[in-house]
Amino acid sequence: MNEYLVILYYHYTKLNELETFRDIHQEFCDRHNLLGRIYVASEGINGTLSGLKDDVLAYMEYLKNDQRFEEIVFKVDEADKHAFKKMHVRVKNELVNLSLETDINPKKLTGEYVEARDFYLRMQDPHTIVLDARNDYEHQIGHFRGAIRPNIRNFRELPDWIKENESLLKDKKILTYCTGGIRCEKLSGWLKAEGYNDVGQLKGGIITYGKDEVAQGQLWDGQCYVFDERLKVNINRVESVVVGRDHFDGTPCERQINCANPECNKQILVSQENEDKYLGGCSIECSRHPRNRYVALHKLTSKEIEKRIKY
Ligand SMILES: [Zn+2]
Repeated sequence: MNEYLVILYYHYTKLNELETFRDIHQEFCDRHNLLGRIYVASEGINGTLSGLKDDVLAYMEYLKNDQRFEEIVFKVDEADKHAFKKMHVRVKNELVNLSLETDINPKKLTGEYVEARDFYLRMQDPHTIVLDARNDYEHQIGHFRGAIRPNIRNFRELPDWIKENESLLKDKKILTYCTGGIRCEKLSGWLKAEGYNDVGQLKGGIITYGKDEVAQGQLWDGQCYVFDERLKVNINRVESVVVGRDHFDGTPCERQINCANPECNKQILVSQENEDKYLGGCSIECSRHPRNRYVALHKLTSKEIEKRIKY
């Protein structure tokens, strides 16, 4: 048990010759049987991967020994198996796609870094707005109590949402948070550039918050969505509240699936019973989609399909 580690990390630093850097990185990971995904860009690195303890430790040391990554911070979780199936190292234009008209360099402009224990205190101030920098499918399974969820499907839609909801944020202290911290680096910088003065970001993200000995994950409701095969991790070590709701009947639910329509793929929370009932589809159109994956997997005949779809 727990012979594996899953790590999450990012670091903004200037990188050159990205293709060469990628190839060396991929080779190192393959040699150490590491699985996951790593993005490299001229602005830095962002990755998450899993492997046997010694292999992951070797990787962390390998990065730290490179001067450019001396100050990198790793979030480390124990696990009993790999959390990924493949190893991809990819070159990207930017580490996080915010699609800003003017890009933000977090090394020059970003919100105040707020340690977990301070974040816990500061988010309880009535003049503070807590902003979830993640997507709706992440928010639905868990979030900070009272946090505002922008109604968006992609991070790059967030700036427009903020412009439309200016009245919520005006003259408030703003705290932002995301899974590991990387999305807040640019978002909080962008908020400052937009004229919001009091902007803080949760240092190390939700994952770090859950490990902090003082905060202990308090005021986090539900689970934290993660982008690997674990799907979600526990954060609040003091109390347990389920905020996820079944897509169909609204009952408490933390079971995540992708809609069985390959053209939809929407991530929903659904009980096994309702998945079976609605053939894994998020809507009647998706249930009846000719390439429905649930139907293919269970080899259902058209007669059986019609029998099940009763809505
Ligand atoms: Zn669907």
